[in-house]
Amino acid sequence: MKLKFKTIVILLFFTTALTSCSNGSFEPRSDNRLLMGTVCIITLYNNESQEIFDGAFEIIAEEDRLLSLQKENSDLGLINMNAGLKAVEVSEHTYRVVESALGYAEMTEGAFDPTIAPLVQLWAIGQGNTGILPSESAIEAENALTDFSLVTMESGNSIKLEKKGMKIDLGGIAKGYIADRVKEYLLSQGVERAIINLGGNIIVLGEKPGNEPWKIGIQNPFDSRGSYIGVAAVKDKTVVTSGIYERFFIHEGKRYHHILDPETGYPVENELASVTIISSVSIDADALSTSLFVLGVDKGLELVESISNAEAVFVTRDKGVVLSSGAGSLFQLHDSDFKITSPQ
Ligand code: AMP
Ligand code: MG
Repeated sequence: MKLKFKTIVILLFFTTALTSCSNGSFEPRSDNRLLMGTVCIITLYNNESQEIFDGAFEIIAEEDRLLSLQKENSDLGLINMNAGLKAVEVSEHTYRVVESALGYAEMTEGAFDPTIAPLVQLWAIGQGNTGILPSESAIEAENALTDFSLVTMESGNSIKLEKKGMKIDLGGIAKGYIADRVKEYLLSQGVERAIINLGGNIIVLGEKPGNEPWKIGIQNPFDSRGSYIGVAAVKDKTVVTSGIYERFFIHEGKRYHHILDPETGYPVENELASVTIISSVSIDADALSTSLFVLGVDKGLELVESISNAEAVFVTRDKGVVLSSGAGSLFQLHDSDFKITSPQ
């Protein structure tokens, strides 16, 4: 509960920072809802109607109903319930998101793996666990169910998990997908300028009044009060961060965060504190930020450099900042505690 409050403060802080520079002719207006277990804030310019806000929040709620691991009647709930039994027909949207998640699983050789759900539920980080470590044997047993190659995508939008007990979790990719859907909706309503912020998963539409880029704060991963280490200056882009500060608990002085390593079954322990992806499509940015976090700086850089139109800002635990080749022109470091470094 405490954590959720902090998140709200952080997000509101960012939105204020983002919108306070507008000039008088484009008065921004924000509305927010608690959806997908996080604060979703939409900021519109040019005096858009309340109906547009409502329509956008309805899309978020609707997609969350299909994609949530927690809701039994969701598409995901049905796929998971029928693991080892039969294929389940799902909505085209759900099918597309699972397909995309499997693409990232292939691309990262399983560092990103949507079948990690049993392990995610066992750890329950950010889902009620305030500090209890699961036993080694439980971790091993649940992680034996992590295997994206056992997901069968059949024709007619049907999905089957081949082994009983397997489950899919789209927590690493769904917010990006839903943000893209909101953007699509806003464009269809003629909105030209907007900020979509789904729990820190951000899309900016168009540019800031005055033909300026938007400035998106990149969170200081060591400071829960919502300070930022620098900004990404962007137009028509998405900015998505995965980090150790989002959902975590401390046990005997050690931090256990919510991004899990399918190799070990434990929260990822590498040199990283956060990874931010700047790109054009939010589903890709979301999957990539989680993927690169698991892969670490070297492999992560190699992957992001091979993808056109995606840039990365890695923040390491020793306060280094490593930028992909195109990120230098988008990211400005403001906090002198951090140093831009080259990859080791
Ligand atoms: P994000 O905040 O986008 O990096 O996503 C983190 C969420 O993705 C976690 O809360 C889990 O629901 C899920 N997750 C954790 N580890 C992995 C992983 N290795 N591959 C795919 N999804 C994961
Ligand atoms: Mg992600």
